[in-house]
Order: sequence, then structure tokens, then C-alpha cells
Amino acid sequence: MRIDILTVLPELLESPLNHSIVKRAREKGLVEINVVNLRNFTTDKYKSVDDYAFGGGAGMVMMIEPVYKAIEKLKAERHYDEIIYTSPDGEQFTQKMANRLSLKNNIIILAGHYKGIDQRIRDHLVTMEVSIGDYVLSGGELPAATITDAIVRLIPGALSDEQSALSDSFQDDLLAPPVYTRPAEFRGWKVPDVLLSGHFGEIEKWRHEQAEERTRRLRPDLLKE
Ligand code: SAH
Repeated sequence: MRIDILTVLPELLESPLNHSIVKRAREKGLVEINVVNLRNFTTDKYKSVDDYAFGGGAGMVMMIEPVYKAIEKLKAERHYDEIIYTSPDGEQFTQKMANRLSLKNNIIILAGHYKGIDQRIRDHLVTMEVSIGDYVLSGGELPAATITDAIVRLIPGALSDEQSALSDSFQDDLLAPPVYTRPAEFRGWKVPDVLLSGHFGEIEKWRHEQAEERTRRLRPDLLKE
């Protein structure tokens, strides 16, 4: 899989893409992640990527040309399954969407900045618009890193067996059960007996019951789906 992230602030993506599971998946060759600096596609000497909004009002708007040129260059090199624009008014990002995207070969994620991008990019080049939640961030870099992380950990081989994504929240529409580690007792706070019993059938049953109970209590909407 290959993910190209288009941004005016590549520095914001450095840490999230170069640590932990995403780093290891890149090193193992499971995913190629390419960060494209949109300033490399500007034409003026100031490397401008934004301009005033037509009609006035506060805030700058990301210009068409650098984004268009960057996308055209990538599209000339390979076919892209999706060109995603991160936007608060996009479709809500979910585990199901992450599952679906993890099966694609090549995707572009375009991170907006300022007041957003020129609408014509969205109308003519973008194939999917994704929001990571009902709040407004300063840029699409953290959403792009969020989407990338959620996708990459689903690629077979990215997680070791004991971290298996299948037991995480939202797979099977259930929240994950509680987890514990040593010591078995801390200041009188005890680990549930069943987990120390060595009885795998009982443990699995308990975990499933806990997952259901948690989901009923915290996210009944998931059970309705
Ligand atoms: N004026 C826009 C917000 C611009 S915020 C509006 O009101 O909808 C600047 C950029 O940050 C956006 O272009 C988008 O790429 C990104 N962004 C901000 N919040 C986001 C969210 N919740 N999900 C995805 N991207 C977001």
C-alpha cells in the first residue's frame, strides 16, 4: 500500500509517522508513506500556497495550482483509488471506513490549512471527504496522521499477534473488554479472579460478557447497528 499526504506543513507529520507501529510497518515494507510539501509546487519566489478569499472576509484560502500540480504529478506515476480531503464537513471517520481503506493500494490524503482549500479542488479532484470529528483543528495534518495510523495498523503483519486488531474496540461493533497486568493485587485493588484461573474458555466468555456490558452501558448506539 502507498499513502501520499499533501501538506503545507510536513513538519507536523514527522513524529506521528516515524514511531511505533506506523514506523515498523514502513520499515517492514508493508506501507510506503510519502509526504509531499505543497510549497515545492509553487510558481512564485515566495512559494505562496494561499491567497485572499474572493468576496472578502477573514482568513486565507489554499490555492488551486500547487495542489493541482502535486496531484497531477502523482497521478501520472500510478493509479489512485481515493483522493481524500480532510474536512470538518466530510463523512465521519470510523473503524469501518479504516477497514475499507486498508484494502486499497494507493491513496492520497490532502490536508487543508487556513480557511480550507479552493472549492474547485473539492469539486474536480477529490473523491472522498473525511472528518475525524465535530470540532475544528488548525490543519488537516493531524487528521491525515490519524487516518493513516488507523489504516496502517490494519495491514496484515503491521501488528504482532498479541496486539491483534480483531480484539480492538469497534470490530464486531463491540467496545474492547478491560485489560490488566501484574501485580495481581495493588493496594487491595484486585484483578478479576477469572483472569488468573488459567481457564481459557472461561476467560474468553468473561471477556465477551464484559465487552457486551461495556458497549450496552457506554455506547448502546453500536448495538443498534
Ligand atoms: N473553515 C473550515 C475549517 C478550516 S480548518 C470550516 O469551517 O469547515 C483548516 C483545515 O483543517 C481544513 O481545511 C481541514 O483540512 C482541517 N480540519 C480541521 N478540522 C478537521 C476535522 N475535524 N476533520 C478533518 N479535517 C479537519
